Amino acid sequence: MKPQTTRRTFIRRSTQAAAMVAAFGNLGKGWSATAERSTAAPDGAAGDWQAGVAKAIITPETDVWLAGYGSKRSADGKLHDLWMKALALKDPAGSRVVLVTSDFQGVPKEMSDVALQELRRQFGLDRRDVMITFSHNHCGPRLGDDLVDYYPVEAGQVELVKDYTALMVKRLVAMVGEALANLAPARLEMGEGRATFAVNRRNNREPEVPELMAKGIPLKGPVDHTVPVLSVARADGMRLAILFGYACHPTTLSFTKWCGDYPGFAQIEIEKNNPGAMALFVNTCGADQNPLPRRNVALCERYGKMLAAGVEEALQRPMQRISAGLRTAFEYIDLSYLHVITRAELEVAAQDPAGVRARWATRMLQKLAAGETFAPAYPYPVHAWQIGREMLMIGTGGETVVDYALRFKKEFGAGTWVCGYTDDMIAYIPSRRVWEEGGYEGGSSLYEYGRPALRWAGDVEERIVSSVHSLVRQVRHQAGSA
Ligand SMILES: [Zn+2]
Repeated sequence: MKPQTTRRTFIRRSTQAAAMVAAFGNLGKGWSATAERSTAAPDGAAGDWQAGVAKAIITPETDVWLAGYGSKRSADGKLHDLWMKALALKDPAGSRVVLVTSDFQGVPKEMSDVALQELRRQFGLDRRDVMITFSHNHCGPRLGDDLVDYYPVEAGQVELVKDYTALMVKRLVAMVGEALANLAPARLEMGEGRATFAVNRRNNREPEVPELMAKGIPLKGPVDHTVPVLSVARADGMRLAILFGYACHPTTLSFTKWCGDYPGFAQIEIEKNNPGAMALFVNTCGADQNPLPRRNVALCERYGKMLAAGVEEALQRPMQRISAGLRTAFEYIDLSYLHVITRAELEVAAQDPAGVRARWATRMLQKLAAGETFAPAYPYPVHAWQIGREMLMIGTGGETVVDYALRFKKEFGAGTWVCGYTDDMIAYIPSRRVWEEGGYEGGSSLYEYGRPALRWAGDVEERIVSSVHSLVRQVRHQAGSA
């Protein structure tokens, strides 16, 4: 791959963007002002893109419990602070996107909906131009109604989580505003490294993994050990941001201190190695992947450093320059449940010994008593962002298994990023293979996430794939690169 951004290419693309603006009625995005600015940019120099970053602390100051693992866990300190971060990009035609990354365990729809509404109101950002991602960090705080039945009920905790969630929405919106205000000429480059600590947790028994590794016996099951890296540098060459991804659960640690797990340690290490740059992490379809072996801080830090080394590997090599131009598409699709739970079934489940299932059934019965009816499907968010000609970013809600990343990267080629954990925690999202195999990620776990069903219908992968293909066609058609 070779750098392709030249003045001629740039102007051609600007013309395409103008045609696109006319065709899609997308005026009002600052086209003429940015076209003027583009002619002033020297050949191949920074100036095609604008980028801005901002970050906000999210470490709770109240007794909000840690999220995940389904138990009451009050924090008794921190290893390091937790963050959310924003990367804003603007192309010469004035189109903007904002990617939010965070050390949250799970952002629920009720939170991202409010934040997205505010972002539209305050900054005119369309739904399709924002992705709110979370690392799925199990040493992060609870948010909104995410996994609400997972935890023992305590009235005080309900209020604390509600207040903390409202505060995080405010902070997220302010942070995005700051990133937009910081937009300045930038150069984007992309590369790829590797890190090998993710293990397919469905195909390998955790207690056996250390011995298998020691004996050099290959572990089983699909994994994605690539570390995609996007480098954003200012006009003067200073690196402003390093976005990187990895497909693995941040579940190295299961204790009661705030920390970002391996992505937190990786971000700290990358920022140490690249003074002045902000490191941002996305979880790229790690639903069925665990960092193994695990459960101590030394291992967690080691995995963070391994991931940071994967990022450095990409930064040291010649990187692919990303030409200017943004095209985005978004839609909700219906992901159908296999069977919507009935009142009679809930009445039986509510009699279970107290636990997640009984709490879920009781809450569902209360909804029915209040006159609510259960929809047969869930609105599943799907994004496609074409960034220049070289980079395609697909964003998918929930905990997508690694098959999705492997499939889309194969289908759409080099430069494809596939982010899970985008906009909405939802539930595990199995591929057809994982659905047919069953087990935790493919079977009857939807009640844990508060859905009115136990399993997805078997066509989950077909529906998501069909949507992704349609959105990618849209953003690539807009690019006029066929
Ligand atoms: Zn998970």
